[in-house]
Amino acid sequence: MSGDANVGSNPVRVALIGPPGAGKGTQAAALARLLGIPVISTGELLRRRAGVDDDTGRALAGALGRGELVADDMVLGLVQEALASSSAKAGYILDGVPRTASQALDPRTPPLDAVVHLSLPDGVTRARIARRHAQRSDDADRTAIENRMRIYHELTEPLCDLYRSRGLLVSVDATRRVDEVTQSIMRALADRNVVPVAPPTA
Ligand code: AMP
Repeated sequence: MSGDANVGSNPVRVALIGPPGAGKGTQAAALARLLGIPVISTGELLRRRAGVDDDTGRALAGALGRGELVADDMVLGLVQEALASSSAKAGYILDGVPRTASQALDPRTPPLDAVVHLSLPDGVTRARIARRHAQRSDDADRTAIENRMRIYHELTEPLCDLYRSRGLLVSVDATRRVDEVTQSIMRALADRNVVPVAPPTA
């Protein structure tokens, strides 16, 4: 199975950060397939938890619908559960976490070998979200979208400086075709010896 690709080497522990619509989920899935490691997506975990009909589920659904950040305890608790129950020996792709300095500095956030920043101008973000709004309620609400973009610029984007100063940042232009973006991420990770060699992506 493709999952053996990285067995025997160092683990590949990568996080993706980028504005809504930058393709974090798509790139996380592509990298996970190429590297044979699991994706831990906080958006997915939270949407699943929000579907449970209890007080927590209802509160979460409200926060997600408004495009607000969810409390660190909830997010990092779900991440730790997911990590414990997945086969993460060969590494993992974090999609959506860390999203704030407090999460980046929290010891419950799993360790990272590289942080991939998917960069996308705001105009492209808005256009992409408008196209996928049928699938997600937080993509259909204009206030929620603007909220998520503001939170991204204020709280998440500054993490680029933090990870650049640690020598972990890989920044890629996310306006290009999906496969081109995947290829440049793989090349950058190989250049930094985070992955052994760039496997063919075709
Ligand atoms: P995403 O699928 O990554 O766009 O996340 C969807 C929504 O889940 C976000 O707008 C937030 O409401 C919430 N969320 C996802 N990840 C986090 C996180 N690390 N910290 C706080 N809230 C999060």
